[in-house]
Amino acid sequence: MSVLSQLAEALGSGSVRVVDLTAPLSSSTPVLQLPGQFGQTATFALEEISAYDDRGPAWYWNNFRTGEHTGTHFDAPNHWVTGKDRDDVASVPAARLVAPAAVVDVSDRVAEDPDFLLEVEDVQAWEAAHGPLPAGGWLFVRTGWDARSSSQEDYLNADDAGPHTPGLSVACARWVAQESQVIGLGVETVGTDAGAAAGFDPMFPCHTMMHGAGKYGLTQLQNLAELPPTGAVVVAGPLRIVSGSGSPARVLALVEG
Ligand code: MN
Repeated sequence: MSVLSQLAEALGSGSVRVVDLTAPLSSSTPVLQLPGQFGQTATFALEEISAYDDRGPAWYWNNFRTGEHTGTHFDAPNHWVTGKDRDDVASVPAARLVAPAAVVDVSDRVAEDPDFLLEVEDVQAWEAAHGPLPAGGWLFVRTGWDARSSSQEDYLNADDAGPHTPGLSVACARWVAQESQVIGLGVETVGTDAGAAAGFDPMFPCHTMMHGAGKYGLTQLQNLAELPPTGAVVVAGPLRIVSGSGSPARVLALVEG
């Protein structure tokens, strides 16, 4: 039997499950808030065209407005100045949108410290237990932050000092971007960088170094707790927006067992 026939049979029997890693997208979906001097992204909004009424008696449909970086979304390399001559979201090769994922679970440590930063040593300890990060695949960092995603306030977790959300240290961002073989970083927080990363050197190191290396981001993921450390295959589907820097995406994982 062919591999795809086996996959179809496994999907039918339930021995391969489809886990939805996508947050519901609505006007209450949390959005990033930058310091006030910068431009801000839009929340998601539906604008009704007709609803089985005089404007369209047999049909219901909407226009929508959204930021490219609203809700569960894909960051393309041209999102950052370091990747400005690299791919836009429309140019990301389709083969990159179906890829294995390694899941590093630091939710226990984030529960004790919302400013927790993943270090190179943490990833190397994971590799010692599970093998190397997948070449051509994703590094997903499970923090448990998805439990907060129904509330803008809880999700951004900001005080007078700024947002307190977990992420990667500068050294770890550099290592993942330049030393590891992964194509991108997936997180449960509002962006790939830690809440405090505006004050890092360089600022926003994940964006700076990942996109500078032509790599991708996936943010506001959910349900990473349902994924094994290795073996999941991720399907990430951003809209093919010409010249776009990213897009809301439906992100699914195929999981065995
Ligand atoms: Mn983004």
